[in-house]
Amino acid sequence: MVGLFFVVNNKVLLHKCELSEAEKYGDFLNYPESHMQIWDKLYYKKYKVDFDYFPRGRIIYNIKDETYYIYYDKCIEENIKELNIIPQNENYKLLRDFHYQCHKCNKNYII
Ligand SMILES: [Zn+2]
Repeated sequence: MVGLFFVVNNKVLLHKCELSEAEKYGDFLNYPESHMQIWDKLYYKKYKVDFDYFPRGRIIYNIKDETYYIYYDKCIEENIKELNIIPQNENYKLLRDFHYQCHKCNKNYII
């Protein structure tokens, strides 16, 4: 599966789909919705902050090397393995990505 996630107060909000439902982008399969779309649709009313306030990340799949790439915010590095987002019995790579920065990690964040 591929997907995206937010980590809100140590809880994972994971949105995923099967590889067959994913969007192809070059050598990658990607979850078809963006963090902003999901957040605005489901969570904005509840948390009353923008989608980039909390730590977040994305799980994509590389078709060529049959590996999942998991991009995430640096502040969840320590507990990334406890979040249950790593596909089991599959190849994966953990990668930090500056695109995924929460309000704590992004010094230019404006609340
Ligand atoms: Zn962060």
